[in-house]
Amino acid sequence: MNCRRLTCAVAIAVLFSLCSLSLEAGVTFEFTYFDTPGTGFSAGSLGAARKASLELVAAQLGSLIAQDATVKIGVAPSETDGTGFLATAGADFEGLGPPAAGFFDGEVFAAIVDGIPGVGAPDCGGSACQGGLVVDFGYSYALAGTPTPAEIHFPSVILHELTHLLGYGSHITTSGPFAGSGLNETFPDVYSKFDSFVTTLGGTPVIDPGAFGPIVGPGSFPALLAAGIAFSGPFTTLAGGGTLVLAPSDPSHSGTTTDVMFPSFAFGEVREDLTAVDLAVLIDLGYAIGLPDADFDSDGDIDGTDFLTLQLGLGSGGPGSGILLSDGDATHDEFIGPSDLFFWEDQFGTPGAIPLAFSASTGSQTVPEPTSLVLLACGAIAALGKQRLKV
Ligand SMILES: [Zn+2]
Repeated sequence: MNCRRLTCAVAIAVLFSLCSLSLEAGVTFEFTYFDTPGTGFSAGSLGAARKASLELVAAQLGSLIAQDATVKIGVAPSETDGTGFLATAGADFEGLGPPAAGFFDGEVFAAIVDGIPGVGAPDCGGSACQGGLVVDFGYSYALAGTPTPAEIHFPSVILHELTHLLGYGSHITTSGPFAGSGLNETFPDVYSKFDSFVTTLGGTPVIDPGAFGPIVGPGSFPALLAAGIAFSGPFTTLAGGGTLVLAPSDPSHSGTTTDVMFPSFAFGEVREDLTAVDLAVLIDLGYAIGLPDADFDSDGDIDGTDFLTLQLGLGSGGPGSGILLSDGDATHDEFIGPSDLFFWEDQFGTPGAIPLAFSASTGSQTVPEPTSLVLLACGAIAALGKQRLKV
């Protein structure tokens, strides 16, 4: 494949001259760090590397989302005790008004999908924070590359947390006298949009969509969870070949070990690509997801013909131009540029994404299956015997 490399080298040279023209659509995460100097994300060159790793994952995730928005995330002072959760994150809800009964979107979702600006104190660089994140740096992390067996893969953890910020998560309380109740136990009938898709394995909504309460009392709720619950969004059901079984007694997470949204990571484990099911949950919530795909002529494989298409359109487009995948726009950003070439090269010689047609009201969207799923499964199963840490 030397000629491919040579062609690419020429094309890359051309494309770099066009970089400044590229106007990327998608979601931009802007982080405000609250660590004091010398700690966490502000710990000199190590802190800078931590920030770079976090912001790279955020940029990659943001580029998958077709909606155009900037969201403000506050990064709380880092923990250092090396116990409990590796990291936690969640969107703000308080700015959306005094909670009444219902299924609610977090402020991150509201900003991205509905264009609603953040509200409240301007605590994130002059604007209101729309979500928060905290990391425990008491654990040993690989900030990039392959982790050693003694390290946690930081980019995988961050991708998991950012996906929570997008709205992948439940407000259902799993135990105690308020089992089944909603947000913070303080607002017992306030649930997330995610919760509107949570059902029993038989398909009965766990939260009554009329009364906004659990379908069984607190005493019976743990047994209901233990019997198994699922996320039954239509896209997710198609992508997974059935409803997504959630983690036992943890409705905020997938029960599938290969999903990024499985609730724990083992040392040395890498889950840095959202699976088809992870993505389908986001689509069910309301995100427009455009996965990079370099099979421009949709003939089932990514080859030289696709490259010629890409080459023809180099440098053209821009938001609103109507440039399509068939023109060479692998990243769905309506511009044919360096990132499209990157994905063509990355996917060269592969059969391409396999679209799962979805014929409901949002019918034009498809859910490609990642080709790396089998490899990921092997890695995750091997890791199950190790100590796992919650996220
Ligand atoms: Zn989590």
